[in-house]
Amino acid sequence: MNPQKLKGFRDFSAEDLKLRYRVIDTLKEVFSLFGFSPLETPALEMGETLKGKYGPEADKLLYTFTDRGGREVGMRYDLTVPLSRFIAENSGSITLPFKRYQIQPVWRAENTQRGRYREFLQCDADIVGSRSPLADAEIIAVSYAVFQKLGLSYAAIQINRRQVLFKLLTNAKISSPEIQLSVLRSLDKINKIGKDGVEKELSAKGLSSSLIETVFANIQKAEPDENLAAVIALAKELGVPAEKLCFESTLSRGLDYYTGVIFEISTTEGSLGSLAGGGRYDNLIEKLGGPALPATGIALGFERIIEVLKESGLGKYKETGISVLVIPVTESETSVALKTLRQLRQNGLGAEIYPELGAKMEKQLKYADRKGRDFAVIIGPEETANKTVVLKNLRTQSQEVVSFDDLTKQLESCSRESLE
Ligand code: AMP
Repeated sequence: MNPQKLKGFRDFSAEDLKLRYRVIDTLKEVFSLFGFSPLETPALEMGETLKGKYGPEADKLLYTFTDRGGREVGMRYDLTVPLSRFIAENSGSITLPFKRYQIQPVWRAENTQRGRYREFLQCDADIVGSRSPLADAEIIAVSYAVFQKLGLSYAAIQINRRQVLFKLLTNAKISSPEIQLSVLRSLDKINKIGKDGVEKELSAKGLSSSLIETVFANIQKAEPDENLAAVIALAKELGVPAEKLCFESTLSRGLDYYTGVIFEISTTEGSLGSLAGGGRYDNLIEKLGGPALPATGIALGFERIIEVLKESGLGKYKETGISVLVIPVTESETSVALKTLRQLRQNGLGAEIYPELGAKMEKQLKYADRKGRDFAVIIGPEETANKTVVLKNLRTQSQEVVSFDDLTKQLESCSRESLE
């Protein structure tokens, strides 16, 4: 058998995970600071929950299959529809407005490229049960705070409102809701395929060239409406600098469920696509069989944030704790070595032992070196008799004899920085 992964699916090494875990911790910290509580939902949903919510193009990317019980099921495509299903199912018992964050993988059968995978992590923050522009502004403010905290302070938030787009389409005499949504789906690709590409798509959808021209002319002239202006004003009062909030009349967001304010965060370089996207979806919970509850939220694209952090040199991570390998010189020192190991671990010092009894000392030292350990604590017959250990600094190769009782204290006083 030829061992290989599926395209668009990835393994993560310890090195990758250091950065990923750190970013996840930052996200959790900022979301909590803004009063969002965590939620997790299952990987699989009923097929009917997912289908028909995102639009025909996105629906084609759903991973669906028939389970052993003959039911059609689908893998989570995003975190918004599962949240809406959760609210629809539990609306009687939750406190409104409901604020949740969710950090879980989603699956899309996409054509893969840089920053576009088939299994990837999304990190969402949403507020359910408020129609107020303050809820939208809070979502924008929390997203901005995340980017600030990660050091990606250049990230600007583009903002628009679906009603602004619907109105300008209606003014261009495109009044059918289906055609309006279809135009927005094409417009959403403007950064990817350019204005020419969008025009070609619209023409293929049957729009005349004069109509397409009118649509773009109307887009050019569009202004924020009252609701959008209120969202922008409140977001500023919540600390988002004016220059980071840009009204962008071409912004349309590709997914069908958006009903109001929409926003997107992009990188300065276009090729990676958007770093985050979201908006208001006031009909989705009702569509899933729940009460008519309004909702707004954002999905942060974790994978692209990681790429940008790495590229900008912010992905480097300094370990803080020190790490030790305890080395029994012969098998007779196993007990003393295990006792030492336990003592170090109980005191919060990262310590491990080569997981094989009687391994040669050189082999153990080589292992410590390859794993980048800071110290070796070497215990031979003489040390056991004297209740001492040999403490070897693996960076400098210097070593000293330390009494067993002083070992923890001595290691605790070392910090990573002092070793370098
Ligand atoms: P969406 O749910 O499509 O609005 O996407 C929200 C965010 O998820 C985007 O801004 C991207 O950063 C990220 N994203 C979407 N699709 C992918 C993908 N295939 N691979 C990695 N990240 C993605």
